Amino acid sequence: MRVVRTTKELREALEYMRMGGHTPIGFVPTMGYLHEGHASLIRRAGEMSSTVVMSIFVNPLQFGPNEDFASYPRDERRDLELAEREGADIVFIPSVEEMYPQPVLTKVSVGALTTQLCGASRPGHFDGVTTVVSKLFHLVQPDYAFFGLKDAQQVAVLRRMVSDLSMNVEIVACPIVREGDGLALSSRNVYLSGEERTQALVLSRSLRETRQAIEAGKVTTADEARQLLASVISTSPLAVIDYVEILTFPGLEALEGGSLISNAEGEIIMALAVKFGRTRLIDNNVFTPKEVHALV
Ligand code: AMP
Repeated sequence: MRVVRTTKELREALEYMRMGGHTPIGFVPTMGYLHEGHASLIRRAGEMSSTVVMSIFVNPLQFGPNEDFASYPRDERRDLELAEREGADIVFIPSVEEMYPQPVLTKVSVGALTTQLCGASRPGHFDGVTTVVSKLFHLVQPDYAFFGLKDAQQVAVLRRMVSDLSMNVEIVACPIVREGDGLALSSRNVYLSGEERTQALVLSRSLRETRQAIEAGKVTTADEARQLLASVISTSPLAVIDYVEILTFPGLEALEGGSLISNAEGEIIMALAVKFGRTRLIDNNVFTPKEVHALV
């Protein structure tokens, strides 16, 4: 595994792999503090590609002024061990100065897909994501890029960016990896106190119970689904809801309150963001109501 820190070294390492015929190239962008969710992306990349490139970069552009850029957890040595163990070939770890040697005047913005859910709570966040991912795509020129459905809105936004801008890369969406008790893995879980960690289980439980209620025909409308999600979450005294939503996926259009979930075409997403103390956690469930309906 080669560790490169400059764009020049990255281009040379990629050139070497391409000259040796080690294509297709799979790319896994991350912000580090790696866990089993990231590991699953590297493994999937390894199944589909001859060269696996991972980037580790805590991107200041995607953090708001009052967010956790400075305190975001970092552990390069552990990250490199995990990346090597899971089969990464090249790890790109640029400094902020290497990525942004001058103020960034050119930004990529994906309009209406970024105004709801996390886009509403974190203004500018997705412009930061799409700008850095565009830059990384230009540097790596991957055939495939792997993203987790943990950040489902990010997947929807990046798919649209790639399509709108005719980028020659396929976005591969990978399933959410969870702890045994249901908590979705996240680098930010390390911020949680013991009590917050216990109460945070309510996120996956609310999604599971609501999904079951929909499948059993006990919940039929979007409003009922939102209410059930919110009421399960509020059984945790420490939980402060940022949003609870049910939308089409990947179009991210809100389902009307009284509309029947079973009438939705294609996939839908139940998505939530909840704060426990200073820590904001997200989780979601994507499913096809028509298939659920056929089961009932
Ligand atoms: P991050 O380092 O948080 O920016 O995440 C890098 C990539 O890992 C993104 O595509 C995330 O969606 C993905 N990821 C993070 N947590 C998980 C998880 N629990 N399961 C699957 N993918 C994840």
